[in-house]
Amino acid sequence: MNDSDMRSILKCVRCGTCRSVCPVFDVVGWESASSRGRMLVAHGISQGMEVDAGVFDSLNTCTTCGLCEQMCPSGASPVKVVENIRHQLVMQGKMTDAQKALRTEALEKGNTLGETKERMAWLGDSRKDVAKKADYVLFAGCLGSYRYPELTKRTFDILKKFGVTALQEEVCCGSPLLRTGSDPSDLMLKNLEQINKTGAHTVITGCAGCYTALKNDYPEDLKVVHVTEFLADRLAELDLKKLDLNVTYHDPCHLGRCNGVFDAPRQLIKSVCSLEEMKSNREKSKCCGAGGGVLKGYPELSLEISKRRVEEIPKDVDYLVTACPLCRTNLIRGGPRVEVLDIIDLLEMAME
Ligand code: SF4
Ligand code: SF4
Repeated sequence: MNDSDMRSILKCVRCGTCRSVCPVFDVVGWESASSRGRMLVAHGISQGMEVDAGVFDSLNTCTTCGLCEQMCPSGASPVKVVENIRHQLVMQGKMTDAQKALRTEALEKGNTLGETKERMAWLGDSRKDVAKKADYVLFAGCLGSYRYPELTKRTFDILKKFGVTALQEEVCCGSPLLRTGSDPSDLMLKNLEQINKTGAHTVITGCAGCYTALKNDYPEDLKVVHVTEFLADRLAELDLKKLDLNVTYHDPCHLGRCNGVFDAPRQLIKSVCSLEEMKSNREKSKCCGAGGGVLKGYPELSLEISKRRVEEIPKDVDYLVTACPLCRTNLIRGGPRVEVLDIIDLLEMAME
């Protein structure tokens, strides 16, 4: 265990604040499923504790949403502790089947979904508009490419008017591996080579997981913006009309709390309709339950967290809007009273 993680563990005064906010503890109710419990488990492992199924359940149920860290009065960094101990165990060959599956799919197929189809098929008839060189390049992501191809094509069709190109041979950004302890270096290097080939100075993505991985974890410093930031800076050129709608917005943890992108999505939404906030929002927003490998490894837990999140949707809104395909997928699983849209879907309605 590194010094910084040990300092986090020693900083913990066992106040329990993290327990009161953790969406996983809220469902599971065990001390080992809260930040301070997870940090004690990590400490135990560093002292030679045996790694059994209970240890995996403690460490691997953290969605890495960061709410505990946001609220911790002692300044501990439980998410780093969890991610680092997961990595340490994976390096020792200790991991669950779900972690193995994510790693194998990503490294062998270039995506975490087990897809073997051509990744860039989402481009359809827009393939002709992919320039070899451009200042901006869209990173589509695994979910964008395979689960929401039409949305990704529509996003590109908006962006290409501003001189944005797309990657020709993109692979998974590496985020699912980073969060679950595996080494995504090969994927990162492949993507960096592709990005550098385009000559782009800025990468644009519509996924919160891709955003934080590209921005914070890549071995080269990349300028990365979320598609909502890019479009909010070009609002005047979008020619949007007003919609008679009232929507609410779910902050993706890895976009909002972890990287401070709160205003751009709200600016876009408010430019086309009215926005009513969810009960918890911005820095204190509750997680959708999908991140950190939890949707893959603990689908029932992930579903329960999502159900609790969608209970926070205000009455009388027409849509739940979000800005990440993974959040969207899990929020839909939670059975919300209203349809879940990506912000791009909402903007498109205002462009018709
Ligand atoms: S909020 Fe921070 S100090 Fe309090 S129990 Fe959790 S990790 Fe420890
Ligand atoms: S990061 Fe989120 S899920 Fe993980 S311990 Fe903290 S509050 Fe719980």
